[in-house]
Amino acid sequence: MRCVYCMPSNNANWLDQENLLSYEQITRLAKIFVLSLGIEKIKITGGEPTIRRNVENLVKSLSSIEGLRSVSMTTNGLLIKDKIKILKDSGLESLNISLDTFKPDRFKAMSGGIDGLYKVMDAIKSALDENLMLKINTVIMRGWNDDEILQFVKFSRETGCTVKFIEFMPLDGTGIWAEEIVVSKREMIDKINKDFIHHLSPINNDKSDPARLYTFDDGIGVIGFIPSITEPFCQNCDRVRITADGKLYTCLFDKSSYNLKDLLEEEKKSDDEIIKYIRNSMQKKPEGIIKIIRTKLLRPTLNTMNTIGG
Ligand code: SAM
Repeated sequence: MRCVYCMPSNNANWLDQENLLSYEQITRLAKIFVLSLGIEKIKITGGEPTIRRNVENLVKSLSSIEGLRSVSMTTNGLLIKDKIKILKDSGLESLNISLDTFKPDRFKAMSGGIDGLYKVMDAIKSALDENLMLKINTVIMRGWNDDEILQFVKFSRETGCTVKFIEFMPLDGTGIWAEEIVVSKREMIDKINKDFIHHLSPINNDKSDPARLYTFDDGIGVIGFIPSITEPFCQNCDRVRITADGKLYTCLFDKSSYNLKDLLEEEKKSDDEIIKYIRNSMQKKPEGIIKIIRTKLLRPTLNTMNTIGG
């Protein structure tokens, strides 16, 4: 898929297999992060995780790491339907499926020409049938899908899955991001409270969770908002990311990265040496970068979401 808010419309920089971390390398890094650096949750994202062969084997290796509380995955939902049971049996605790519209033509327009809505809806149904903890990720963009917010709210209430509305971030490969297209958390909440019979009420959730969670006054449905642009949460962010080619990013919005694949391969470093390198890299994590982005000065040097994973 080439979602308009994410993938470059052409010239995506495909990686050769030899440049990717192997499952063994990912598992070694995961063990280091969990056993020595305090990481408790791992999310497999992408790119698109379901195009890696036998991704359930990776889930199995990760979920058997002692001390890890959860392994989850974010997917576009196109190829996952037949894998849901095996992924759950391999230890997958929860699944995020990205869905931005319930309209087939709009799905095609937003995904760069893929006629895939029915496949994604099928995958959602399978995940619900398997009782897998399911979250829907929805990027709301003004003029594209902001008229469907209430449909997503109703969907959460009908199915019991959490719907997370994500503010459009300037991490698109197409260059279409503009502040006018961002629909803020505040605006979405006001709209829901005005147009829907039930009102949102906040749930006290973990501060380090990027989503601010709400339910309704009747307790049905869970709606999350990820307000990266209008209410940045840098001071509570405790996430790190490793790309498919083994680069450590300490912040979604920082261009600097630290090459872990080289450490794993060329120089054959010990776990202690890798831990030291990761700790040093973390010290360089930039502070409050979103404020700078809002001045738009950083726009040309940002990452794109398709390489860093969301
Ligand atoms: N291919 C998978 C998928 O489609 O969910 C995983 C990767 S995708 C980069 C992870 C998440 O990032 C998706 O939920 C997507 O909606 C979100 N995302 C991508 N670009 C974004 C942007 N510019 N602003 C906000 N969210 C974005």
